[in-house]
Amino acid sequence: MLGQRIVHISEGRRAVDAGPWRERFSTLVDLSRDAFVEIDGRGIVTEWNRQAEILFGWWRDEVMGRPVGAFLVPERFVVALAGELGDALSTTGVERTAPRQLRLLHRDGHELRVASTAYRVGSGTDLRIGGFLQEMGEDDSAEEALAHAYLHDSLTGLPNRTLFTYRLSYALAARRAEPGSVAVLVLDLDRFKAVNDALGHEVGDELLVAVAGRLVAAGETGLDGCPPGVVARLGGDEFLVLFEGEDAEKQAMGFSERVAEALSSPTILAGSEIFVAASMGIASTASTAAGITEPTTLISNADAAMYQAKRRGGTQVEVFGEALRVHVLDRMHTEHALHRALDRGELVLAYQPVVSLADGTVASSEVLLRWDHPDQGVVGPDRFVSVAEESGLIIPIGSWVLDEACSQVRRWASQGWTGPGASVEVNLSARQIDHPEIVDMVERVLRRTAISPERLVLEITESALMDDARWALRVLRSLKDLGVTLAIDDFGTGYSSLGYLQRFPLDVLKIDKSFVSGLGTGPGGSEIVGAVVGLAHALGLEVVAEGVETEGQLAELHRLGCDFAQGYLFSRPVRADE
Ligand code: C2E
Ligand code: CA
Ligand code: CA
Repeated sequence: MLGQRIVHISEGRRAVDAGPWRERFSTLVDLSRDAFVEIDGRGIVTEWNRQAEILFGWWRDEVMGRPVGAFLVPERFVVALAGELGDALSTTGVERTAPRQLRLLHRDGHELRVASTAYRVGSGTDLRIGGFLQEMGEDDSAEEALAHAYLHDSLTGLPNRTLFTYRLSYALAARRAEPGSVAVLVLDLDRFKAVNDALGHEVGDELLVAVAGRLVAAGETGLDGCPPGVVARLGGDEFLVLFEGEDAEKQAMGFSERVAEALSSPTILAGSEIFVAASMGIASTASTAAGITEPTTLISNADAAMYQAKRRGGTQVEVFGEALRVHVLDRMHTEHALHRALDRGELVLAYQPVVSLADGTVASSEVLLRWDHPDQGVVGPDRFVSVAEESGLIIPIGSWVLDEACSQVRRWASQGWTGPGASVEVNLSARQIDHPEIVDMVERVLRRTAISPERLVLEITESALMDDARWALRVLRSLKDLGVTLAIDDFGTGYSSLGYLQRFPLDVLKIDKSFVSGLGTGPGGSEIVGAVVGLAHALGLEVVAEGVETEGQLAELHRLGCDFAQGYLFSRPVRADE
């Protein structure tokens, strides 16, 4: 319905009435102390007085001859004024309506409650609908509250996705008649869940309100002569900002710099200083092929850019451009192919031994996923695991990996190999930990393959635990109750929070290969690894060093008291029969 309306009222700029009586009329309405807005039958603005400029923040020159929906919320103005007159459109003469209340938007996105007295004059192409508008104070009638709730986020009071999409639709429609561009910026706070978890949801909410305030402030001080950005909250810790005009992308870039600056000073909440950072993605009609008219396309492009910023480590701005478009297409392609890969048996597992430093025996094997691609040969997980995670495919794939790995333990057992070395270490990604049925899934596989749970180690990264620590703690405890061993993977690359090590029921700590490669190459390398080993032992954890490639590193790990090692020095990941 909205789409139809856009097409209807945005066919382009219409000649604005001229003539001496028009001029007198304009002068007259300018003297009015009320805002005055007049549109024709298609919703094109034909009058906009000085008070309307003040009330709505749009200059007369900017709005004359353009669809009113680009400035004021369409369903509140076009429908209220034109719609209520219904099919009386063909009758002639002046008709007044009783004063009524409307909720309209200021240029900066905040909502105005106005009373309007509307009239209609003329018919057909001469039809004009005009209204005198007065701003009103706050009102708490249930109907108004409901209307407000429909278009706004209850926590921050900012426009919500619905309202934002309306504004964006009209901004895009207006661009067909006017030069300039439209840009959308998506902002997502980094590690917001961790704050929420550490300080509680109430503090988390307060933080979101504080951030919203900073975003609105950053949106107001834009480039000279440009309208403020419209800031909306999508829900959670995601915000959307709309820019339009001369160089919308540049405005969005400027905004992102001001936001980064504003967030660099802490917010004081519940007596603590809280630092937040954000990842931002920008998409504009200027940099991505003209012809973008769908609000959802622009939003999803900005979203893709934001995710790219996250992948690059967060606290960054990314602009959606050709490279990212290709990247998105490539990922889509990979996703489709990956869908079929599981059914066609193209996914295979490689095993890499973990060696005990005490006696040099194999203590277990890490299970590593490979894609035996029909065209590209064997593809490593770095090229497809993130796609599987983002698309949710990691759920079926991950459960296949676990099932296959445990079945391998079963086969080893039937070949008479039942010692501790016949254990497997399986990687679980954050998405799997978040899944409501993760514990059931592991339990099912253990039951089906009938292996001893001691033969299974589950590896989880720090960030997977940080995302929603409360939930992760419950999951880990339940997994622990199944009798499996739990390892923290890639230790040192994330938060390396000691509190987390203590809080979660972990058994093994895997030091990331970046620390191992630093051994013996300069000052400090050994001290860090030594400190981690000492800490892990103090907490009752065994330590595995990852990515051991040289004898020198191995000797150093021995000296530092590390328990196990894994790396090319011993073996590359190989097929189970090797
Ligand atoms: P990871 O868990 O840190 O796995 C260790 C990675 O280090 C493996 O890469 C392994 O081949 C590599 N590696 C082992 N020894 C050495 C060495 O001496 N030097 C160097 N430079 N690298 C070494 P791979 O197989 O490419 O796996 C990459 C990542 O993909 C894994 O990192 C893991 O996060 C993910 N992954 C692999 N299989 C699965 C899976 O089944 N499920 C999930 N969720 N993730 C998986
Ligand atoms: Ca691992
Ligand atoms: Ca690792």
